[in-house]
Amino acid sequence: MTVVTRFAPSPTGFLHIGGARTALYNWLFAKHHAEYGSGGRFLLRIEDTDRKRSSDEAVAAIYEGLKWLGLDWDGDAVSQFSGAARHAEIAEQLLAEGKAYKCYCSAEELQEMRDAARAEGRSMRYDGRWRDRDPADAPEGVDPVIRMKAPLVGETVIQDLVQGEVTVANEQLDDMILLRANGTPTYMLAVVVDDHDMGVTHVIRGDDHLTNAFRQTQIYSLLGWDVPAFAHIPLIHGADGAKLSKRHGALGVEAYRDLGFLPEAVCNYLLRLGWSHGDDEIISREQAVEWFGLESVGRAAARFDMDKLTSLNGHYIRESDDARLLELVLPRLRETLGEALSEEAESRLLKGMAGIKERAKTLIELAEGAEIYARARPFDLDEKAQNLVEGEGRDHVGHLRDRLRNLDDWNAENLQATVRGYAEEADIKLGKAAQPLRAALSGRTVSPGIFEVMEILGREETLGRLSDFLERA
Ligand code: GLU
Repeated sequence: MTVVTRFAPSPTGFLHIGGARTALYNWLFAKHHAEYGSGGRFLLRIEDTDRKRSSDEAVAAIYEGLKWLGLDWDGDAVSQFSGAARHAEIAEQLLAEGKAYKCYCSAEELQEMRDAARAEGRSMRYDGRWRDRDPADAPEGVDPVIRMKAPLVGETVIQDLVQGEVTVANEQLDDMILLRANGTPTYMLAVVVDDHDMGVTHVIRGDDHLTNAFRQTQIYSLLGWDVPAFAHIPLIHGADGAKLSKRHGALGVEAYRDLGFLPEAVCNYLLRLGWSHGDDEIISREQAVEWFGLESVGRAAARFDMDKLTSLNGHYIRESDDARLLELVLPRLRETLGEALSEEAESRLLKGMAGIKERAKTLIELAEGAEIYARARPFDLDEKAQNLVEGEGRDHVGHLRDRLRNLDDWNAENLQATVRGYAEEADIKLGKAAQPLRAALSGRTVSPGIFEVMEILGREETLGRLSDFLERA
């Protein structure tokens, strides 16, 4: 059997981190079956029936977010709104088969039911007053809604692949509306028809939809359609256990991109947030496709931990190809430095990337580190660096420049020997010479190894920077 999954976001806002995880699980499940089973497809459906709250920008953000995460979908994305006529047709079909009926209840009547329910401390259930009523009783000039004939007794049972068996007594559920008086389908009907028409075999989504699954199961059985397998995954909570909110990092995926996270780090993090494979923390996309299954999705709400995500990101930055990292930091550098990098600076940066990426946990940190190779001369020292070169420090830099000028073979080893030689003669610790040198060369107090930096900067740039500093100080 070919597994068909879908991601069905409502385009009412950005693609948030919870949605991204749902998309990832659906994608992985389909890919796993495509590569290790008898086929798998991952579909995308935009649930844009709420016209007031849906926007084209949100649809674009969803596409872009999924692409950034590398979660490509099969075929074209389906717009739920565009299927409205088909949804209505199914409601009419149920009506014709006597499995649904027209309800002419007025707003006042419904309000009375609501008030009565509230007074009795229970949730509102439509009392079925038009279920068996003679259609000849229909009031003049009122457009009816179409309601499903839900079973009155017995239970509706879901064999959820994550939650296990979940049951509701049918008397808890009422005859819900399938088609509104204005002819538009309700969400519940649209989801069932679309999932059926798209051939969805597995519905993997947040457990906030678990109660909807009961209603949907009832609609499937009225229609005589196979019910897809359900897997309701626990929601993501903040580190403090409360439902994830903006304060916890419930941002759109584009915000994570802007914060300097790599998509593979975000995916690896989201994968582990609710699913496990032994004690493995670092899991590549290929391994995830191989290992992913719904049986290892946990039942407890996962807690979002920004520190963990950040440290995973550091791992993926260290693992990344230097040329790719260069492409990723260039736009950021252009922005902070206010101009594009010279070709020379770019090639220096590429050489220095291996050293810089060791320390960076985000692309923002990487871009900061990269400034040492990227900045144009002359530049100011930051305050800490300035303190390091006050007084004696400046003198050491002056002496060191003179010695470095005479160095023949410009490489890290010789540079180190020169600075070391100077420190010994001046009877100071190596750091007393190297730190002011670092400050003058980078404008900062932190950098990759200073001899490596000087080698990469090259003779001309190094001596130029030292002269800028000495002439200005
Ligand atoms: N559109 C729903 C949402 O964004 C998802 C519905 C579903 O997956 O069945 O929460």
